[in-house]
Amino acid sequence: MNRGPESSEQDAAARVVDGARAMLGDTLAQRIVSCGEFSLAQLRALVERAALYIGGDSGPLHIAATSRVPIVGLYGPTLPARSAPWRDPSIRVAAVEPEPLPCRPCDQRVCAPGDFRCLTSIGAEQVVTAAIKCLT
Ligand code: SF4
Repeated sequence: MNRGPESSEQDAAARVVDGARAMLGDTLAQRIVSCGEFSLAQLRALVERAALYIGGDSGPLHIAATSRVPIVGLYGPTLPARSAPWRDPSIRVAAVEPEPLPCRPCDQRVCAPGDFRCLTSIGAEQVVTAAIKCLT
């Protein structure tokens, strides 16, 4: 059976949720929301309740940008200078990028190296540092 990219993304999201729950233990694990399908309004309402939004340069990031929630944007194929949503300067925001790559930015239709290194090379430490910057 040929599974589409949507299924692949759902599988990846489920792995992230499972991994986060396993790391947090029984009590805190209940606070991890399972990924589901949300309407735009539901997604925005969920983001509005968050202390921080972390995500790639995608539709949900731009929905989050319509709230006053601090945002950590992860920019792989795109550049924050071009793609980051405008925000009120009083709201904290951080952009996380990979080390310079000759293929970046790209049109996102085909990954020339084939391994999406612009995203996979972003380290957890970079994201945590940006999150702390947005929360303190
Ligand atoms: S690694 Fe692939 S997706 Fe990322 S910028 Fe380079 S070509 Fe584009």
